[in-house]
Amino acid sequence: MRTSLIAGNWKMNGSLESVTALIDGIKAGDPGRAELAVCPPAIYLMKIGGMLADSGIALGAQNVCQHASGAYTGELAASMLTEAGCRFVIVGHSERRSIYGESDELVAARFQMAIDGELMPILCVGETLEERQQEQTLAVVSRQIDAVLAVSGIASFAKAVIAYEPVWAIGTGQVATPEQAQAVHASIRDKLAGLDAAVAEGLQILYGGSMNPGNAAELLSQVDIDGGLIGGASLKAEDFLAIAQSA
Ligand code: PEP
Repeated sequence: MRTSLIAGNWKMNGSLESVTALIDGIKAGDPGRAELAVCPPAIYLMKIGGMLADSGIALGAQNVCQHASGAYTGELAASMLTEAGCRFVIVGHSERRSIYGESDELVAARFQMAIDGELMPILCVGETLEERQQEQTLAVVSRQIDAVLAVSGIASFAKAVIAYEPVWAIGTGQVATPEQAQAVHASIRDKLAGLDAAVAEGLQILYGGSMNPGNAAELLSQVDIDGGLIGGASLKAEDFLAIAQSA
C-alpha cells in the first residue's frame, strides 16, 4: 500500500513574514493520513528547515545543480540541500524546462545528483496542450522518463517520486479529469513495471496541475494517483491541509 504524499511547490512566492506564517498554519493543522512536504524558495530553506524540526513535515528544494560543487554561479549543490534539511528536491518542473531551457538530459543529470546526494527527486513530467492535442502525451512522458532511466536506471526509482504535471493544467485552473490523469499514471506505472514490477508498485506517482480542495478528492481516489504536487493552493495553509485531508 503506497502512502499519499502531498507536496507544496511554493515557486518564487512569499516573504520571510509570509512563509513563516504559512509554516505556522500548516503545523497547526491536521493533514490526516497524508505525508506532507513543502518546497519553499531556496533562500528560506534553512529557516524553514529549523521550523519543521520534529514536525513530521518534510522539506524539499525546487531544483539541484547537476554538479557536486564548483564554479556554477547561482546553483545549489545536493550536499547544501541536505545540510539545510531537505529530503526532497523537485527536478524537471515544466517551468524549468520551458523558461530556463532544461533539456531531458540536463534533468536526468540533476536527478542523478539528487540520488547521489541521498535526496529524493520528485521528477516532473508532462505534455503541453499542443502535444496532447496531437495525441503525443504518452510518448512525451515516456521520453522524459527514458532520459532518466538511461542515466540512473530503474533501481533509482525506488528512491524517487514522479509527478505527472500536464503543462496545460499548471497554474491555469484547467485541471485534468481524473480519467485523463489516471490513464497517464497507469501508463507510467506499466512502463516501469516492465523493467521492475516491485519498484513500479512501490513508486509514488503524484498528480500536479491546478489541484485544489474542490477537485482533489476525486483525483486522489484514482488507483494510480498517490498524492499531489500543489502550486497555487499550497500557499494557503487551509487549502493545502484540505487537499491533504482528502487524500
Ligand atoms: C506546479 O507548479 O507544480 C503546480 C502544480 O502548480 P498549480 O497547482 O498552481 O497548477
